[in-house]
Amino acid sequence: MQEKSKGCQDSGCTKESCSGCEKSNQHPFEPLNGNSTVKKVIGVVSGKGGVGKSFVTAMMSVLMQRKGYQVGILDADITGPSIPKMFGVTEKAMGSQQGILPQLTKRKMKLMSVNLILDKEDTPVIWRGPILASTVKQFWTDVLWGDLDYLFIDMPPGTGDVPLTVFQSIPLDGIIIVTSPQDLVSMIVKKALHMAQMMNIPVLGFVENMSYVKCPDCGKEIHIFGKSKLDEVSDATGVPILGRIPIDMNITELVNEGRFEEFVADYLCDAAKVVENILREE
Ligand code: ADP
Repeated sequence: MQEKSKGCQDSGCTKESCSGCEKSNQHPFEPLNGNSTVKKVIGVVSGKGGVGKSFVTAMMSVLMQRKGYQVGILDADITGPSIPKMFGVTEKAMGSQQGILPQLTKRKMKLMSVNLILDKEDTPVIWRGPILASTVKQFWTDVLWGDLDYLFIDMPPGTGDVPLTVFQSIPLDGIIIVTSPQDLVSMIVKKALHMAQMMNIPVLGFVENMSYVKCPDCGKEIHIFGKSKLDEVSDATGVPILGRIPIDMNITELVNEGRFEEFVADYLCDAAKVVENILREE
């Protein structure tokens, strides 16, 4: 087990002397809160906003929790936080001597999001890049996550300053890249992919969201955004496709009502197996 509470905490830590830094290439990672251990950190990224990155983060987290793992979600999408709302969590996060206490969902998944520290959830976050990035870092260093098997990170969208800082600050064990058919797949997805590869972060696979709509009468799959180009990208890059999620109005309803934990759908079974194997392979 790689205990991320250890390593990178010693001052003077270097790439050679600290196992936690091995993947960072140049930068020592930020230390995880000293009273916490996280076995695996999985980032969920997208080339741009609105493709369903938070949706996939939440779905993966619920699936892993259903498999019996201890799971937390770090909502690093500071300017577009949607995780607490999906789970119907409105209580603010409280502080203690040891750090910030994450909020719990109904089924005891741990959450941290900027919306849990803002006075009102509709207050806009008008912060400069360095403040955004340091807030995300604090969610790693100052939150009392306790002992988790998986921490899923809903990453800031795109390939700009904030996602870059997160990649350099938090030791990710793998990322899932979320895309949608209307996304300019080959270009935007490849940007996200190349960024991860340049940072030496393992890319577990692609998930295509809003892939199709299923006719409620005949069950036929309708590809309203046209034929997906993701297969070509997958073939060209060797990165597997871990799942395709249709536009599912039943789940949208659960999202809007803050009852995301109740969804029943098997769109991401393969992705859940891949993430489970990372832990098992140790
Ligand atoms: P992102 O995190 O990439 O900005 P979100 O996950 O917040 O995107 O999704 C944007 C909106 O689309 C949300 O309202 C979400 O509930 C909805 N949505 C995402 N994926 C689906 C889907 N497969 N079916 C129905 N609604 C979806």
